[in-house]
Amino acid sequence: MSAHLDINAYEPPTSLGAKVSRKLLPLRARRTIRFKLERPIVSFTFDDFPRSARYQGADILAMQGWRATFYVAAGLKGIENHHGDSFREVDLTHIREFGHEIAGHTYSHIDCAQSTSEQVLAEIDRNNAALKAMGVTNPIEHFAWPYGTTKAVHKSALAKHFKSMRGVMPGVHHNKADLNLLKATPLFSGTEFDNALEMLRGLTKRPGWLIFFTHDVRNKPSKWGLTPVEFRNIIDAVKQSGAQVLSVGSAIKKLEGHHG
Ligand SMILES: [Zn+2]
Repeated sequence: MSAHLDINAYEPPTSLGAKVSRKLLPLRARRTIRFKLERPIVSFTFDDFPRSARYQGADILAMQGWRATFYVAAGLKGIENHHGDSFREVDLTHIREFGHEIAGHTYSHIDCAQSTSEQVLAEIDRNNAALKAMGVTNPIEHFAWPYGTTKAVHKSALAKHFKSMRGVMPGVHHNKADLNLLKATPLFSGTEFDNALEMLRGLTKRPGWLIFFTHDVRNKPSKWGLTPVEFRNIIDAVKQSGAQVLSVGSAIKKLEGHHG
């Protein structure tokens, strides 16, 4: 366990300035895709990649014939933090063999809103190189902003490197999405969990693309994770919604063919 990569203590700044920046961020440096959906789409995503997301996440989804997207921070490999044990190389290989999508994060989980473009690009290069060294030979086409925080200048810069970048703002994409800051709805225990179910129910009335994100799936999850029982409840609700379940990459490919 390497303590310097323990992200336990870090949470993004909550100053008024930081809050205002986060509010304005969705409006700036957008890359809009427009589409019309008859049938809803749900994407499951896992960030950082705790080991439990393999056993209680990837494997459970694969049993349904579904594939998820994993935004892997390679620098967290083998450590233990508030999400429990982090992934090992064997876990990465396993989920890849089951057809799950491997996507990018920053190598050491830096907050991009607090970083220069050089720092962000260096972290991405380092992450991509580390994933390649672990056998991920496909290009890394999708990315998630750690903590969902960034700057407009990074949104523009990373658009050249990735087909999409995902944030952590909840919501369903109806008719359009910002590929530089995709919305993602938390699958966390507690009150957030009911919101996730509510959004799924809404899909039957009004189809859209709903991206879920979580971290650890354990009996005693962190506040950014959920229990295996809750995860199974979500799977049941997704089935009831009639949604098609696709990785982020597959969803975008599909949406590109459904212009509104
Ligand atoms: Zn993360």
